[in-house]
This record gives sequence, structure tokens and C-alpha cells, in this order.
Amino acid sequence: MEIIVGKTSGFCMGVKRAIKKAEETLDGKKAYCLGEIVHNDQVIKKLESKGMTTVNSLDEVPNGETVMFRAHGEAEEVYELAKQKNQEVVDLTCEKVKLIHEKAKKAKEDSFIIILGKKKHPETIGTKGFAGENSFVVETEDDILDAYKEFEKTDSSKVYVTTQTTISSSYCDFLMDEIEKNFIETEVILDKNVCPTTEIRQAETRKIAQEVNKMIIIGGKHSSNTSELFKIAKENCENSCCIETAEEIKVLDFSPTDKVGIMAGASTPPEIVEEVKNKLETVN
Ligand code: SF4
Repeated sequence: MEIIVGKTSGFCMGVKRAIKKAEETLDGKKAYCLGEIVHNDQVIKKLESKGMTTVNSLDEVPNGETVMFRAHGEAEEVYELAKQKNQEVVDLTCEKVKLIHEKAKKAKEDSFIIILGKKKHPETIGTKGFAGENSFVVETEDDILDAYKEFEKTDSSKVYVTTQTTISSSYCDFLMDEIEKNFIETEVILDKNVCPTTEIRQAETRKIAQEVNKMIIIGGKHSSNTSELFKIAKENCENSCCIETAEEIKVLDFSPTDKVGIMAGASTPPEIVEEVKNKLETVN
């Protein structure tokens, strides 16, 4: 069997940094993490064994304790709330996401803000928190008209468009074109913030999927960038599957004559990629 493992598989820079900083924080003390540190159960379990407790709200963190904010970032009001509760914040927000927050904070002074991204994704929720009331999340083409209606209710004459870092690059371009067409006679500033890591990984996934007859995407079930990779894989290779761990691989589904591609999302540890590869190598 020929196996091609994507060179851009696995942890991105932001996730690597967040995990390293979390490990340093947990060296000698326990700490809480607001939300899943990354969308990967194996990574979460490992950090929880070192003293991390995952919580869904700051109310679950006792006053004065340490709380980590994950790579996706949090809304501005969450920082304020932690301060009121005298909680020590260890900020693991990716530098790229922080920059998006800063730009949104500045843009809201004179613009209506549109965020292209998944409405329920924590990164988008965090950015919306910085963008303030005069902002709207556009997830699909159908949301653009609603965004326009909201814009009309404001005094703004300018629209600033920013993005979630892990959305599909090509869909982002499409939505930006549609926004320009719909916001006529309005100054529209387009600021595409799709992370280069995401774009490169998506392009490599597309390329590998076109070369193989079976494609495996590895990543967390709730990982946005993993589901994008799976979508791209499926579009280019009918026999694509998405798994979280090597245990989910059914070796019987593979044969020695297969050419199999492997790509992993930004929150997948390298060990899992290796395990999947090793398991496939047992097929003969
Ligand atoms: S995908 Fe990019 S922006 Fe998001 S955490 Fe990773 S490096 Fe940061």
C-alpha cells in the first residue's frame, strides 16, 4: 500500500504554543481552562491528568484561581469578568486571533463589522465580543441580506469585513464578492484573515485527495478546520473518511493495492497521525 502523509498535518503554531504554555502553567499548580483547550479529546485528557480542569463558564472557577483562555480567544467582556472575580488569566489566545481582535476593536469606532465564520464557533464568538453591538456574523450567502438590514439600522457609512481564521479560503472569497455586490454605495473594507496555515493545509489536502483512491482526515469531531478538510477531501476523493483516533480505522476497508492519503487537522497530535499510518501498514 502506498501511503501519503500531508506535510502540513497536525498542530498549527497557535495550538503548539497554547499546549506548551498550558503545560508550563500546570507545572506545579492546577488551573482551569475555559472551554476545550483544543478540539481533541486525547490532548484534553493528557492535560487534565496534569491538573487541568475544563469548565464551561467562569462561574465554575473559584475566585482567585488560575484560568486559561484557549487559542481561539475570548470576548472582551470575558476578560473583564475574570478581572472582577480576581482570577488570574493565562492567555493562550493565538497571536493571529489577537490581531483580529485588535483590528475589530479599532474598526468598530467608525464601521459596521461583518465577521465571516461559523456563528457558534468560539473564535467567532470571541471576535464578535470585540466587534461590539454593530456587528453581524455571516456564515452563508443567505445571511448577507440580514447583515445589510442590520447595517441599515446603524449610523455607519463604512463596513469592515473580517474573518474566522479557519474557514474555507475559497468560500471566504465568494462571500466577500457577494458582500461587495450587496453593499453598493458603501465603503467596504475587506480584511481576509484566513490563517495561512489553514490555506496551505487545505491546498495540500486537495492535492493529495486528487492523487489517491482513499483519503483519511484525522481530527476532533467538533473541530471546524477538520470538517473543512473533510469537505475538501470528499469533493476530490469519493472514498474519504474522517476519524479522531487510530482505533476508528477499519483495516478491512483497505487493501494492499490502495493508495491512501492522510491529513490531520490543526488540533491533532503527531502521535495519532503516526498510529494511523502504522495501522495502515499492517494491511497486506
Ligand atoms: S489555525 Fe492559525 S490562527 Fe488558528 S490557532 Fe492555528 S496558527 Fe493560530
